This record gives sequence, C-alpha cells and structure tokens, in this order.
Amino acid sequence: MVAGGGGGLSREGRWSLAGAAALVTGGSKGIGHAIVEELAGFGARVHTCSRNAAELEECRRRWEEKGLAVTVSVCDVSIRAEREKLMETVKNFQGKLDILVNNAGQLLFNAPTDWTSEEYSHLMATNLESSFHLSQLAHPLLLCSPIAGGASVVNISSIGGLVGFPGIAVYAVTKGAMNQLTRSLATEWAHDKIRVNAIAPGMVTSEMTRNIEPEVLEEEHSRILMGRSGEPVEVAAAVSFLCMPVASFITGQVIVVDGGRTIY
Ligand code: NAP
Repeated sequence: MVAGGGGGLSREGRWSLAGAAALVTGGSKGIGHAIVEELAGFGARVHTCSRNAAELEECRRRWEEKGLAVTVSVCDVSIRAEREKLMETVKNFQGKLDILVNNAGQLLFNAPTDWTSEEYSHLMATNLESSFHLSQLAHPLLLCSPIAGGASVVNISSIGGLVGFPGIAVYAVTKGAMNQLTRSLATEWAHDKIRVNAIAPGMVTSEMTRNIEPEVLEEEHSRILMGRSGEPVEVAAAVSFLCMPVASFITGQVIVVDGGRTIY
C-alpha cells in the first residue's frame, strides 16, 4: 500500500500548505503570478522564475511587502541548461521541494501550413519539454518530501489540449501531450508518494489573451456557460487545492477550469 493520506490531520492541517516548499515557473504575470500568491498565502515558501529580471524583482518586492515568502531567479524554461540551473537554485534557496507547478508557457497562432520548424521546436521546448525535464529534475527532491498527502506536480495545460480550436495546432499538441504526461507520471510515481495532476484552463484574462481581437473574444464568451473569461485566481485556487493534503487521493487527473466551455 502507498502511505501518505492526509486523513490523520486536523481539518485546518488538511487545507494548509504551511511548511511546504514550491517551485512555480512563469510567476511574473497572469496565472503563474496568481498561483505564487495563492500558494504563499496558504503558507508555502515559493520560488518562481521568468525571463525578465526587472519584472521579477518588482514582483518579489511587492510580495515581500505583502509578507509572502517568495524568492525569484531568471530562467528561460525552453533551455535545458537553464532548467538545470533553476533546480540547483531551488535546492540552494529552499533545501527541499514539495510542489512543482509547470506553468510557464507560450501561445502562438498560425495556420497549420505556416508553422516553421523553428516555431514548432520552440513551442515544444517551452511548453512540453520544460514540463517533462523539470519534473525529472524535481523527482529526487519530491521523493524526499515529508508533506502529508504526498508531494505534487501540477501541469498547467489547456482545454486547447482537449478539444479542437482553429489556429493553435502546435500549442494544442503541447497541451494534449501535457495531459498525457500527467497521467503517465502519475502512474510511475504514485508509489513514490508523488501525485501528478493537471489543470486545463479555458479562456483566462492575462497577458497571453490580451491581444485577442474583441470579436473573437465575444464569440468565445458566447460559448462559455458563464459568459465570461476566468480570472487567474480562479485557476490558482484549483492548483492550491491539488497541492494540499486534502487532495491526497487525487492523482493523474486533468481538471478543467473553464466556466463550462467544454461540457456541451
Ligand atoms: P502570460 O500572462 O503570458 O504569463 C506567462 C508567464 O510565463 C510570464 O511570467 C512569462 O514571463 C513566463 N514565461 C513565458 N515564457 C517563458 C519561458 N520560456 N521561460 C520562463 N518563463 C516564461 O500567460 P498566462 O495566461 O498566465 O498562461 C500561463 C499558463 O496557462 C500557460 O502555460 C498557458 O498556456 C496556460 N493557459 C492560459 C490560458 C489563458 O487563457 N490565459 C488558457 C489555458 C491555458 P516572461 O515572458 O517575462 O518570461
């Protein structure tokens, strides 16, 4: 039997991340920023990265003012050597790791016949390879995690990896593969007491969706049962839940947070 249920804890303990150490990629904006704040707000020490040093430092300063325990470092997750350096930095700053959130990602629009091989490789490296490699690098640390309910990997995929959307073929492939990576790693690592889940957001207001044309946005909203885009914090709440001891029996799942966009 695999040990590690959160059942022995008080209710307060099961809905807490006190004492946990987390790495969230892409925390300077949007969904990643909200995930950092939510995890830190529940008591975790969080490390995050992006490619922009000045923006990261500004975020770190604001988090410090709010009393949140967050450290930052620059990392381009599409580059293998930078991912290795990131995990070394996490080891030095935190000494341990209980939670990995593979959030950093990019969206490119193109007709299927127009994707170049450079664009294809770049998107694969940024969205998919980074999630796989960072999970590999994190494994020895997650293996030592004493957290009740098990250590967690959470991949931020997309409903674009579940249903068809025009213009995003390669992005959709990376997200569909992240969903399958989630199930595969969950299968391999359940006996290591590491739970692996994914959140698949629908349309969420962020830098990534800022330039979507108003007519396209309106059309998309008309297909969402709740009639609007989601807020980053609505995704962050689901991520926090998955990382808590209260979710100790949940692994290998792709949880859709999309205001009902994909249920009909
Ligand atoms: P965003 O507002 O564009 O923020 C992306 C974050 O990731 C930023 O902090 C960005 O900082 C960082 N980042 C991007 N490329 C990076 C790289 N190569 N290395 C390190 N950091 C990098 O995007 P978002 O909307 O929050 O999206 C976050 C995740 O949710 C993505 O995986 C996205 O695919 C997924 N998602 C978003 C939506 C949506 O509607 N917004 C829907 C479904 C899924 P720098 O650019 O400064 O590096």
